[in-house]
Amino acid sequence: MRSFEEGKLLSELSTFGIGGPARHFTEVRQIEELEEVMAYAHAQELPVLIVGKGSNCLFDDAGFDGLCILNKIQFCRHEEAVVEVGAGYSFSLLGVQTARRGWAGLEFASGIPATVGGAIYMNAGANGAETFDTLQEVTYITETGQRELLKREALSWGYRTSSFQGKKGAIAAAKFILAPSPEARQKQLKIINYRTATQPYSDASAGCMFRNPPKHSAGALIEQCGLKGSAIGGAEVSQLHANFIVNKGNATAKEVLALAELVQNTVREKMGIELEREVRYVPSRSALS
Ligand SMILES: Cc1cc2nc3c(=O)[nH]c(=O)nc-3n(C[C@H](O)[C@H](O)[C@H](O)COP(=O)(O)OP(=O)(O)OC[C@H]3O[C@@H](n4cnc5c(N)ncnc54)[C@H](O)[C@@H]3O)c2cc1C
Repeated sequence: MRSFEEGKLLSELSTFGIGGPARHFTEVRQIEELEEVMAYAHAQELPVLIVGKGSNCLFDDAGFDGLCILNKIQFCRHEEAVVEVGAGYSFSLLGVQTARRGWAGLEFASGIPATVGGAIYMNAGANGAETFDTLQEVTYITETGQRELLKREALSWGYRTSSFQGKKGAIAAAKFILAPSPEARQKQLKIINYRTATQPYSDASAGCMFRNPPKHSAGALIEQCGLKGSAIGGAEVSQLHANFIVNKGNATAKEVLALAELVQNTVREKMGIELEREVRYVPSRSALS
């Protein structure tokens, strides 16, 4: 059996730059390795945390008391409209490459700092499109290490949610089917230019902190409450985009959670609207929230 690294800092695996040590850590580059590691963790009763680019996670200051698996399964095969891709492949790169080849459906992925697996798990989306629009099937490794091929019909999804969120296995690979479009590249370039002008890419964050409530923009509500620039310790509501909480230095998870709660309380009091957190907090010991 492979040996694990001990005490890897989760802050190094997170775009937030926050998080303490993982008890055990390993990287997987092949689907077979993922099967083997999942089976081992199950047999040893080790809690498992799968990480892609860590761009939607707030890791605990105390780290993770289990096995953290970094997904680096990065193959990518294009054949006309069909793309088969490892779950550790860059979702942003996939968006750029497919658009350059004149295929539409994943242009919105350009600039989302995710892996394909993380994007499927979250049903990441932007500009009126989302990951499940073109997703056809998923190669999935169950928590006991068994490989399954899940067809689109067997999956369910919604706004930033997917049926994977209630399961304990790992997404290993995916197949997308795209549509031909001579405008795909232009659309993708427009998306990335807008993104870099309106989102705080130079600050450490995990993207939008809150889901948009029905018929509202979370960012606009937070801005209307005068919360831009509010800070607790090193955590600050971005001056550029109010739905981003950014790490201005040495922010802790505790500070980010306290600031998120302050934002939720203020928006509830002033606007009567409940904001639901989109960023996933990963406590060191129990289930994700
Ligand atoms: C600057 C910035 C801009 C962003 N813009 C957008 C945007 O426009 N739209 C949007 O939707 N999101 C956006 N995000 C948020 C984030 O990129 C997405 O939620 C993305 O889907 C997370 O992917 P990841 O690979 O980083 O997942 P991680 O953060 O590593 O993981 C997220 C969750 O998915 C689980 N997971 C990850 N990989 C797997 C796998 N292979 N199998 C099973 N579970 C897995 C993790 O355990 C965790 O619960 C942005 C983030 C940043 C920092």
